[in-house]
Amino acid sequence: MKTIHGIDIHSGECGLSFSGGADSAVLLYILLSNIQDTLHLYSFYPEKKAHIAEPVTDRVLKKCIELTGNSNVIHHKEYIEQQTPKLVHTLLQSFIKRDSLVKMYNGISKFPPDEIIDQFHENIKLNDNYVYQRRKNNAVYEVYFGENQSFYRPLANFHKKDVANLYRLLGIEQELFSITRSCENINSPDEHCGQCFWCEERQWGFGYLE
Ligand SMILES: [Zn+2]
Repeated sequence: MKTIHGIDIHSGECGLSFSGGADSAVLLYILLSNIQDTLHLYSFYPEKKAHIAEPVTDRVLKKCIELTGNSNVIHHKEYIEQQTPKLVHTLLQSFIKRDSLVKMYNGISKFPPDEIIDQFHENIKLNDNYVYQRRKNNAVYEVYFGENQSFYRPLANFHKKDVANLYRLLGIEQELFSITRSCENINSPDEHCGQCFWCEERQWGFGYLE
Protein backbone atom coordinates (compact mmCIF):
# COMPACT_ATOMS: atom_id res chain seq x y z
CA MET A 1 0.00 0.00 0.00
CA LYS A 2 1.19 3.48 -0.90
CA THR A 3 1.56 6.10 1.85
CA ILE A 4 1.63 9.82 1.06
CA HIS A 5 2.85 12.13 3.85
CA GLY A 6 1.74 9.53 6.40
CA ILE A 7 -1.65 8.93 4.76
CA ASP A 8 -2.44 5.40 3.59
CA ILE A 9 -3.80 5.12 0.07
CA HIS A 10 -6.09 2.10 -0.11
CA SER A 11 -6.90 0.40 -3.39
CA GLY A 12 -10.48 -0.40 -4.35
CA GLU A 13 -13.44 1.97 -4.22
CA CYS A 14 -13.22 4.30 -1.22
CA GLY A 15 -15.39 7.03 0.22
CA LEU A 16 -14.63 10.40 1.78
CA SER A 17 -16.83 12.39 4.08
CA PHE A 18 -16.53 15.81 2.48
CA SER A 19 -17.44 19.22 3.95
CA GLY A 20 -15.32 21.57 1.87
CA GLY A 21 -13.28 22.56 4.94
CA ALA A 22 -9.48 22.63 4.91
CA ASP A 23 -9.13 19.07 6.25
CA SER A 24 -11.44 17.18 3.91
CA ALA A 25 -10.25 19.30 0.96
CA VAL A 26 -6.60 18.31 1.39
CA LEU A 27 -7.63 14.67 1.71
CA LEU A 28 -9.69 14.96 -1.46
CA TYR A 29 -6.69 16.39 -3.29
CA ILE A 30 -4.37 13.63 -2.03
CA LEU A 31 -6.86 10.88 -2.89
CA LEU A 32 -7.61 12.17 -6.40
CA SER A 33 -3.85 12.50 -7.00
CA ASN A 34 -3.16 8.91 -6.02
CA ILE A 35 -6.06 6.52 -6.45
CA GLN A 36 -7.09 4.61 -9.55
CA ASP A 37 -10.61 3.59 -8.54
CA THR A 38 -13.76 5.67 -8.33
CA LEU A 39 -13.91 7.92 -5.26
CA HIS A 40 -17.28 8.44 -3.55
CA LEU A 41 -17.79 11.76 -1.79
CA TYR A 42 -20.50 12.21 0.83
CA SER A 43 -21.57 15.72 1.76
CA PHE A 44 -24.15 16.55 4.41
CA TYR A 45 -26.16 19.72 4.15
CA PRO A 46 -28.15 20.66 7.26
CA GLU A 47 -31.28 22.62 6.36
CA LYS A 48 -30.14 25.98 7.71
CA LYS A 49 -26.66 25.81 6.21
CA ALA A 50 -27.21 24.16 2.84
CA HIS A 51 -27.18 27.44 0.89
CA ILE A 52 -23.65 28.07 2.20
CA ALA A 53 -22.29 24.54 2.48
CA GLU A 54 -23.28 23.27 -0.95
CA PRO A 55 -21.54 25.94 -3.08
CA VAL A 56 -18.39 25.48 -0.97
CA THR A 57 -18.26 21.71 -1.57
CA ASP A 58 -18.96 22.25 -5.27
CA ARG A 59 -16.17 24.77 -5.79
CA VAL A 60 -13.62 22.74 -3.78
CA LEU A 61 -14.42 19.59 -5.75
CA LYS A 62 -14.18 21.46 -9.04
CA LYS A 63 -10.79 22.87 -8.06
CA CYS A 64 -9.44 19.47 -6.96
CA ILE A 65 -10.51 17.92 -10.28
CA GLU A 66 -8.82 20.79 -12.10
CA LEU A 67 -5.58 20.47 -10.09
CA THR A 68 -5.30 16.67 -10.31
CA GLY A 69 -6.88 15.99 -13.71
CA ASN A 70 -8.86 13.17 -12.07
CA SER A 71 -12.65 13.39 -12.33
CA ASN A 72 -13.39 9.76 -11.44
CA VAL A 73 -15.58 10.80 -8.53
CA ILE A 74 -19.24 10.50 -7.55
CA HIS A 75 -20.58 13.25 -5.27
CA HIS A 76 -23.43 12.00 -3.08
CA LYS A 77 -25.39 14.87 -1.52
CA GLU A 78 -27.45 14.36 1.62
CA TYR A 79 -29.89 17.03 2.73
CA ILE A 80 -30.59 16.56 6.43
CA GLU A 81 -32.46 18.47 9.07
CA GLN A 82 -29.65 18.77 11.60
CA GLN A 83 -26.13 17.42 11.71
CA THR A 84 -24.96 15.34 14.66
CA PRO A 85 -21.99 12.97 14.83
CA LYS A 86 -24.38 10.07 15.48
CA LEU A 87 -26.54 10.74 12.43
CA VAL A 88 -23.53 11.24 10.17
CA HIS A 89 -22.00 8.03 11.43
CA THR A 90 -25.19 6.04 10.88
CA LEU A 91 -25.58 7.37 7.34
CA LEU A 92 -21.93 6.80 6.45
CA GLN A 93 -22.13 3.27 7.72
CA SER A 94 -25.11 2.58 5.48
CA PHE A 95 -23.25 4.08 2.49
CA ILE A 96 -20.22 1.84 3.11
CA LYS A 97 -22.55 -1.13 2.61
CA ARG A 98 -24.66 0.32 -0.19
CA ASP A 99 -21.65 1.39 -2.27
CA SER A 100 -19.41 -1.60 -1.32
CA LEU A 101 -16.56 0.60 -0.09
CA VAL A 102 -13.15 -0.64 1.03
CA LYS A 103 -12.59 2.38 3.32
CA MET A 104 -14.44 5.50 4.36
CA TYR A 105 -11.94 8.33 4.83
CA ASN A 106 -12.79 10.99 7.34
CA GLY A 107 -10.93 14.30 7.62
CA ILE A 108 -11.51 15.00 11.29
CA SER A 109 -8.24 16.32 12.68
CA LYS A 110 -6.85 16.76 16.17
CA PHE A 111 -7.89 19.70 18.32
CA PRO A 112 -5.38 22.43 19.17
CA PRO A 113 -3.79 22.07 22.62
CA ASP A 114 -6.00 23.18 25.52
CA GLU A 115 -3.84 26.22 26.29
CA ILE A 116 -4.46 27.46 22.74
CA ILE A 117 -8.22 26.89 22.85
CA ASP A 118 -8.28 28.75 26.16
CA GLN A 119 -7.18 31.88 24.29
CA PHE A 120 -10.01 31.61 21.75
CA HIS A 121 -12.97 33.96 21.72
CA GLU A 122 -15.02 33.69 24.90
CA ASN A 123 -18.34 32.94 23.18
CA ILE A 124 -17.01 29.69 21.85
CA LYS A 125 -16.31 28.36 25.28
CA LEU A 126 -19.66 29.47 26.61
CA ASN A 127 -21.97 28.56 23.76
CA ASP A 128 -20.56 25.88 21.58
CA ASN A 129 -21.59 22.62 23.09
CA TYR A 130 -20.43 20.69 20.05
CA VAL A 131 -16.91 22.00 20.48
CA TYR A 132 -16.93 21.06 24.14
CA GLN A 133 -18.03 17.55 23.31
CA ARG A 134 -15.30 17.13 20.75
CA ARG A 135 -12.68 18.67 22.97
CA LYS A 136 -13.02 15.99 25.59
CA ASN A 137 -10.24 13.91 24.04
CA ASN A 138 -12.19 13.83 20.82
CA ALA A 139 -14.47 11.56 22.80
CA VAL A 140 -17.56 11.82 20.64
CA TYR A 141 -15.67 10.95 17.51
CA GLU A 142 -13.82 8.08 19.09
CA VAL A 143 -17.16 6.55 20.05
CA TYR A 144 -18.58 6.80 16.57
CA PHE A 145 -15.57 6.47 14.32
CA GLY A 146 -12.81 4.94 16.44
CA GLU A 147 -13.47 1.21 16.45
CA ASN A 148 -15.00 0.49 13.08
CA GLN A 149 -12.40 -0.91 10.67
CA SER A 150 -14.17 0.56 7.67
CA PHE A 151 -13.56 4.13 8.88
CA TYR A 152 -10.14 5.67 8.46
CA ARG A 153 -9.18 9.00 10.04
CA PRO A 154 -5.73 9.76 8.59
CA LEU A 155 -5.59 13.23 10.16
CA ALA A 156 -6.44 12.03 13.67
CA ASN A 157 -2.95 13.03 14.82
CA PHE A 158 -2.70 16.21 12.76
CA HIS A 159 -3.78 19.49 14.27
CA LYS A 160 -4.37 22.56 12.11
CA LYS A 161 -0.71 23.58 12.00
CA ASP A 162 0.15 20.12 10.65
CA VAL A 163 -2.64 20.42 8.11
CA ALA A 164 -1.20 23.80 7.05
CA ASN A 165 2.20 22.13 6.59
CA LEU A 166 0.59 19.49 4.42
CA TYR A 167 -0.83 22.20 2.15
CA ARG A 168 2.62 23.78 1.91
CA LEU A 169 4.36 20.47 1.19
CA LEU A 170 1.87 19.77 -1.59
CA GLY A 171 2.13 23.32 -2.94
CA ILE A 172 -1.64 23.87 -2.93
CA GLU A 173 -2.05 26.44 -0.18
CA GLN A 174 -2.78 29.35 -2.47
CA GLU A 175 -5.07 27.62 -4.92
CA LEU A 176 -6.95 25.24 -2.67
CA PHE A 177 -6.85 26.41 0.94
CA SER A 178 -8.15 29.83 -0.09
CA ILE A 179 -11.48 28.42 -1.33
CA THR A 180 -12.14 26.05 1.59
CA ARG A 181 -14.43 27.10 4.41
CA SER A 182 -15.52 25.77 7.80
CA CYS A 183 -17.08 28.88 9.35
CA GLU A 184 -20.37 28.72 11.27
CA ASN A 185 -21.53 32.04 9.80
CA ILE A 186 -24.44 31.45 7.44
CA ASN A 187 -24.52 34.77 5.61
CA SER A 188 -22.22 34.05 2.69
CA PRO A 189 -20.03 31.20 1.38
CA ASP A 190 -17.30 33.76 0.73
CA GLU A 191 -16.91 35.23 4.20
CA HIS A 192 -15.26 34.03 7.38
CA CYS A 193 -16.64 35.51 10.60
CA GLY A 194 -13.34 35.22 12.47
CA GLN A 195 -15.27 34.60 15.70
CA CYS A 196 -16.44 30.98 15.64
CA PHE A 197 -14.32 28.07 16.81
CA TRP A 198 -13.53 26.93 13.28
CA CYS A 199 -12.32 30.36 12.24
CA GLU A 200 -10.13 30.66 15.33
CA GLU A 201 -8.67 27.21 14.67
CA ARG A 202 -8.03 28.10 11.04
CA GLN A 203 -6.35 31.37 12.00
CA TRP A 204 -4.16 29.56 14.54
CA GLY A 205 -3.16 26.80 12.11
CA PHE A 206 -2.52 28.78 8.95
CA GLY A 207 -1.83 32.24 10.35
CA TYR A 208 -4.67 33.79 8.31
CA LEU A 209 -8.29 33.05 7.41
CA GLU A 210 -8.49 33.28 3.63
ZN1 LIG B 1 -16.40 31.67 11.55
